[in-house]
Amino acid sequence: MRILVTNDDGIRAPGLVALVDVARRFGEVKIVAPDHERSACGHALTMREPLRMKQVPWNGLEAWEVNGVPTDCVNLGRAVGFPDGVDLVLSGINNGPNLGFDITYSGTVAGAMEGAINGIRSVAISMALFVDGAPIHYDTGAAWLLDHWDFIASAPLPELTFLNVNVPSIAPPELLGTKITPMGRRVYADRVEPRSDPWGRTYYWQGGAVVMHAAAQPGTDVEAVSQGYAAVTPISLDWTAREAIRGLDDWLSGQ
Ligand code: MN
Repeated sequence: MRILVTNDDGIRAPGLVALVDVARRFGEVKIVAPDHERSACGHALTMREPLRMKQVPWNGLEAWEVNGVPTDCVNLGRAVGFPDGVDLVLSGINNGPNLGFDITYSGTVAGAMEGAINGIRSVAISMALFVDGAPIHYDTGAAWLLDHWDFIASAPLPELTFLNVNVPSIAPPELLGTKITPMGRRVYADRVEPRSDPWGRTYYWQGGAVVMHAAAQPGTDVEAVSQGYAAVTPISLDWTAREAIRGLDDWLSGQ
């Protein structure tokens, strides 16, 4: 099995090491990842500047750092790393959750998205950590992946569908199990925070505190990870809101 691994936290991120250490047991792994952290870059594509790949040492595996984002890395991985084809794209393990609407901002998820667009089975995996400074249990993410390898590699999936996995950042024995969930909602309060620079000019930090009402989102990924379960959400690349087609059509034809 030819496995392309990427992330958005950069090639030196410990979550990438944890992911590779599991993946290499199951096939031929090549790593193509950003040369520095590119979190929240979404499904961006570098088109207005040249992309460069630099080979970096990786304990017996081929690995490249790229001056680009995860989407670029997947495309370069396909063209340069595995010109004869990729069987599985893995993106992660991300330092932080990718739940609900956050998947639209996520570079980690975008890596899997790019794989799926190209017809490759793809999985994004993230550690759902909610308290600043709390330990990040990549060991739990890695253990989950090891235990669920056949599932992520072989369970049936429709076309243009990839898996978004969030594993709660708790010690391995505390993990309660796995739930297949729809995506919930994550909404942020105080998204934009104004501050003042030393010259009195206003600037802004974008971040904000998540307003998470896990209890109000029964059955979602948000609730599952808050309860101590790994959440697996199948994501379709067909973004069409099919339930809207009829009403729009009726409106138009009624004019
Ligand atoms: Mn990240």
